[in-house]
Amino acid sequence: MSDRVPVERSVLVLGSAPEAGWVSAELAALGYRVEWAAEGEAAPGGAAAAGVAYREGRLVRLDGQVGAFRAWLAGNGGAATSLDAAAVVVASGNRRLMPWERYGLSPATPNVLSVPQVRALLGAQRPTGPALEHRNQAFLIALDLGGETPKETATEALELARDLRRAWRGEVYVFYQNLKVDTANLDALTRQMREEGVLFCRYENPSLQATDEGVSFTYVEGTVRGDLLIVPEDTAPGEDTQALAAALRVRVGEDGYLQEVNVRQHRPGHAERKGIYYAGRCHLDADLATLRADAARAVSDVDALLGQGYLEPEQVRAHVDSAVCVRCLTCVRTCPHAAVEIADYEEVTAARVLDLACRGCGACVANCPVQAIDLLGLDVPAWAQRVREEVAAS
Ligand code: SF4
Ligand code: SF4
Repeated sequence: MSDRVPVERSVLVLGSAPEAGWVSAELAALGYRVEWAAEGEAAPGGAAAAGVAYREGRLVRLDGQVGAFRAWLAGNGGAATSLDAAAVVVASGNRRLMPWERYGLSPATPNVLSVPQVRALLGAQRPTGPALEHRNQAFLIALDLGGETPKETATEALELARDLRRAWRGEVYVFYQNLKVDTANLDALTRQMREEGVLFCRYENPSLQATDEGVSFTYVEGTVRGDLLIVPEDTAPGEDTQALAAALRVRVGEDGYLQEVNVRQHRPGHAERKGIYYAGRCHLDADLATLRADAARAVSDVDALLGQGYLEPEQVRAHVDSAVCVRCLTCVRTCPHAAVEIADYEEVTAARVLDLACRGCGACVANCPVQAIDLLGLDVPAWAQRVREEVAAS
């Protein structure tokens, strides 16, 4: 008999990062019913794409299992409302901050500006020609001060360096300690910058000075003086990450970001709870092109899961003998994949394994104090089967 379970092509997208909008639009274009939920009465960044239903709300609970999740959302002041979805994509993003203290600077330090401040100046209406205030000045962009700059904001700083060189025609220096040019996009960007005359300087043990007269950066090669020192923002996990992870029943890593299923399984972007995927900054530090690729990866993961219209349980999965279970909740607490619930069935209240959610890891079997759980579909060697029968008979 087939174990296939029919599923709807429906997805809940959570979060207000740009990747939430990208994922929603791409899934809708593939014909999925998409509900996009985030805090705020309008879809972040404008109207949701055609075929995407936007609703304001914060996830407070996710019941059920892959193929049949029920999400509970709390809005502003109202009671929680629910919606059903076969899969969930989390795109809750991260947050930005300016680590002035770590940089040994302050917003009041003369001639020091952040990358977003200079980007705003560059984009503002301004006088042209000789009156242009910053034309032909020297700009020092300092990455990795007091710790590695995240790729996301390092890329923004590099793009700013390129644009400053083009628009204001000044000398532009990029100081760095550990610049990882490990994507095709970053490789192309840095090559283009070098060709256009941006100077890269690797430093150790630098000394910085910023006064009303200008700024200087001293490192092993000597001292470079300039008119403006520009520093990037830092990134940090979103403030709601812990609460969101608790509602989803998924893990947060030591770094405070959402953590993928066991890394040995090489499934980037897969939560340990089946049917939940991460997209973008909530689990990844990357440049914009890589974030877009990661959002596309989440879309194809959803499509690989639901595209056929049915799901099948793993061949090896746990099963609870409801007559033996004493409802101690150990398996509910210890299942790493949120695949066990307490339910009324077979005329008792007992633990029950959600077939489609179970990954067959065996953790519950090992932890059940009364051996009420077995793994179905496991090929047991004949000698082990004999030992098991002897133990049961004794
Ligand atoms: S660990 Fe065993 S006894 Fe405890 S709830 Fe789970 S199945 Fe029941
Ligand atoms: S085998 Fe047990 S612990 Fe492992 S996923 Fe299945 S129910 Fe959870």
